[in-house]
Amino acid sequence: MEPRRATVRDLRRHNRSTLLSTLFFEGPLSRHELGRRTGLSAATVSNVVGEMVDDGLVVEAGLVESDGGRPRVLLRVNPDYGSVIGVDVGETGVTMELFDLGMNRLAAVDRPLPPPQPDPSLVGPLIAAGLEELLGKAGLAEADVLGVGIGVPGTVEQGDPVRVHAQAIGWDGIPLADLVRECGVRAPLYVENGAKTQGQAEMWFGAGRGARHAVIALIGSGVGATVIADGSTYRGSTSSAGEWGHTTLVYGGRQCRCGSAGCLEAYVGAEGVLDRFRRARGGRAVPRPDEQSQLDFLLASADRSATAARVLEETVGYLGAGIANLVNLFNPERIVLGGWAGLALGTRLLPEIRTATASHALRHAYEQTSIELCQLGPDAVAVGAATLPVDALLTLGADARRPARPAMT
Ligand SMILES: [Zn+2]
Repeated sequence: MEPRRATVRDLRRHNRSTLLSTLFFEGPLSRHELGRRTGLSAATVSNVVGEMVDDGLVVEAGLVESDGGRPRVLLRVNPDYGSVIGVDVGETGVTMELFDLGMNRLAAVDRPLPPPQPDPSLVGPLIAAGLEELLGKAGLAEADVLGVGIGVPGTVEQGDPVRVHAQAIGWDGIPLADLVRECGVRAPLYVENGAKTQGQAEMWFGAGRGARHAVIALIGSGVGATVIADGSTYRGSTSSAGEWGHTTLVYGGRQCRCGSAGCLEAYVGAEGVLDRFRRARGGRAVPRPDEQSQLDFLLASADRSATAARVLEETVGYLGAGIANLVNLFNPERIVLGGWAGLALGTRLLPEIRTATASHALRHAYEQTSIELCQLGPDAVAVGAATLPVDALLTLGADARRPARPAMT
């Protein structure tokens, strides 16, 4: 009898997950429209939606006219059911944002991390303090938080404990979730690679929407990518797939932070671009206090400085070659260029980047691909991190506050 009961329960959970996800991404919708979009029967929709309304997960959202009949009640996911927090652990600071379940941003905090490399022992206390501050600003308690998603540099080994391997910044098997727990945080934690959280944000709400095969590129100080294959993130055997920044672009080339030489990141990551600019200036430091404003300086100098123009032209060439590798390997329908440096370069140079890609990619594959800018801006890693607990809720459907997957600790 046990397997039979499990099947019924699984089916019920699947139906809840389907209806909840459809309301989250496409709502508000009427019961009639929910049935049409999910293929579920009117009776199933009515039962399951009734349960979710009783649970407070779904609420009414006005009326819509129907053809000749009575007006239909619209339904949507209740934004006040709970809140989620997204954390972007970057190389120079931690950004934290708090959202309701409608993904409306309720509060945000930013904390710098002392350079040159983020010290993992500082990150736990910083996140715990940031969480307190966010809750204070929004007037919420920790019990209202459905989960905290944390986007980090490097590879995330999901297990117990969750370990972060970020060779380029000297993090070797850091048990990050445990470090946060030790600072008193009780809400469920989800840890994921920052490029993958940014990728999920663009796929859910930004330039990736509707694509089945896509690559979301993240170019900041470092370089990463999320590969979406047939609608799902391609992870590889231990979740490290997508380390595009450490594919070799120039054999025997520039030293990379990962210890290898000639990696794409050493040429198109902001640190690599700025170092090439500095060398091209005969070793003179690039003016401005931080990488972001230094890259802006480089972009603004291109019109009057032949040196700056040449460095940018080479950057476009390297980036085009790197993107062409993605086109040839994955045959995506869309490539989304994101990350603060990707956005800065792409805003000014997207046509040139497309031309450079075309000259390195196989023609037929290139013709199937569009190259676009991300839509969510520099906080996409934090937004994407906040989608991790939402994803668990949507997948689980049946019981919102039960552990969803091993990633949760
Ligand atoms: Zn490397």
